[in-house]
Amino acid sequence: MYTQLVKYLLTISMSTILFFNLSYSQPFLASEEGKTIIEKYSSKFPKFFREFQYVSKNESRIKEFKFTRGNSNGTPAKASKDGKIILDVSYLETTSNNDYDDNRLVIVLYHELGHLYYNSKNENGNVEDNEKFAFEFSLKKAKDLAVKGDCGPLNTGIKFMRLRSLSNQLQDPHVRALKRIFNEPLIKSYSAFLKKICN
Ligand SMILES: [Zn+2]
Repeated sequence: MYTQLVKYLLTISMSTILFFNLSYSQPFLASEEGKTIIEKYSSKFPKFFREFQYVSKNESRIKEFKFTRGNSNGTPAKASKDGKIILDVSYLETTSNNDYDDNRLVIVLYHELGHLYYNSKNENGNVEDNEKFAFEFSLKKAKDLAVKGDCGPLNTGIKFMRLRSLSNQLQDPHVRALKRIFNEPLIKSYSAFLKKICN
């Protein structure tokens, strides 16, 4: 009787775990489908498309791009420990989330690439330092684009980072990292650069 009860409870908890795993994990699209979607939206997101192609070809730290389709309510991209960047194509497909324009998606892409750089150097890294590194990496890449004549990503990147740095969600390592960034001289040098070069 007792063993049967234990078995019964085990079965229930196993199916609950399975159910929650299935309902929370986004299924991946086939890789070709994901790439086709990025290409399909290349006229709406030309800078993102260009940088996506560039990093796909030139960044050996990216082992693979994976694609999901969420509801553009979460985050447009994630980096995994094993060198994958996961892109949520709903951010390209829906027009409702205008916060993520072409410039910002470029920043997001380089933020994720920044995580892969950080992970490759720090095996037991710290989440907050990892975020700080990723934000600063994206700023550096955006500055390179500004030097080549496009100030959009740097402008947008600083704007959204500043906004997020003001959040009081201190449990979020992104927010803690941004508070540090906005207390250091580096960000001022980027802002000064923007003013000098881009206005
Ligand atoms: Zn991050």
